[in-house]
Amino acid sequence: MRSYERPIIVSSKCIEFEPCRYNGLMISSDVVANLKKYADFIPVCPEVAIGLGVPRDPVRIVDDGGQNHLYQPKTGECFTSEMEQFSEQFLNGLNEIDGFILKNRSPSCGIKNVKRYHGFNNPGSMRDSVGFFAEKVKSHFPNQPVEDEGRLRNISIREDFFTKIFTLADFRRVKNQGSFQDLLDFHSRNKFLLLAFNQENMRRMGRLLSSSSDLLEDIKNNYCELLLHSLSENSKTTSNSNVLMHSLGYFSAKLTQPEKAFFLENLEKYRGGRIPLMVMSSLIKSWIIRFGSEYLEKQTFFNPYPDELMQVSFIYDKMG
Ligand code: SF4
Repeated sequence: MRSYERPIIVSSKCIEFEPCRYNGLMISSDVVANLKKYADFIPVCPEVAIGLGVPRDPVRIVDDGGQNHLYQPKTGECFTSEMEQFSEQFLNGLNEIDGFILKNRSPSCGIKNVKRYHGFNNPGSMRDSVGFFAEKVKSHFPNQPVEDEGRLRNISIREDFFTKIFTLADFRRVKNQGSFQDLLDFHSRNKFLLLAFNQENMRRMGRLLSSSSDLLEDIKNNYCELLLHSLSENSKTTSNSNVLMHSLGYFSAKLTQPEKAFFLENLEKYRGGRIPLMVMSSLIKSWIIRFGSEYLEKQTFFNPYPDELMQVSFIYDKMG
């Protein structure tokens, strides 16, 4: 049974931590609520941190002559420099972060589709902007997984996000305390997972480990860069399907024709977005238990995050 390191996640404080929204409310999120048991959170509310109270008059992003401002229409005040200053200071003070969960559509925390008004007194807006704090997060941590609580209701996005944060947490332990052998073991157990995210990088990482005569610290840093780069994009259905087909090959001779047909039928459903990856992984895992395969058993691809986070209710709200 795999044990999991606890990811360190920065989260918007109004999601499941404190009722600090402009209207004094809190946002509920099953994802964050369930993740609390398995991850360590650093909750932050940038608007409260710059001195705006709770409740408060809402702020918005206003584009004035090509320059974005964080504007409070009721008071006519701008909090742009305060927000930029706080964000820089807060993010510079963070050390090793495995991911961010931010509040969607907020002019401070929203990672995409945030309303941007055209002029201080113009009611016209477009949902094409990024919150001030979120923008700084992206520039300080360009390759770390960043999601909002709305997108995490989608099962594919959530599967990817969980996979990334638990992989990065596992690597953080190896990077900070591990020997060269620990690094080799990390690479070995993550081979299928890395293959699914970025095949070319997976090979580069393998070459780095097999041919490098550099200092361990340098190898770890280079490996870390490649890992972050690999996880900076979402896994693709085709790559996951290739890994699943590759896994089928390990058991092909032992399976009956109807069993193989059943697998391929479900693989088509996965490709069509009708079932999540976890269903296909469970199918392979049942064969690992039945026929035994030490190599596949240790592959994180089949157990990328704690089983308890694979909530059935989550499946319905994303597939439906
Ligand atoms: S979205 Fe961000 S700034 Fe707004 S209440 Fe939540 S944590 Fe605070």
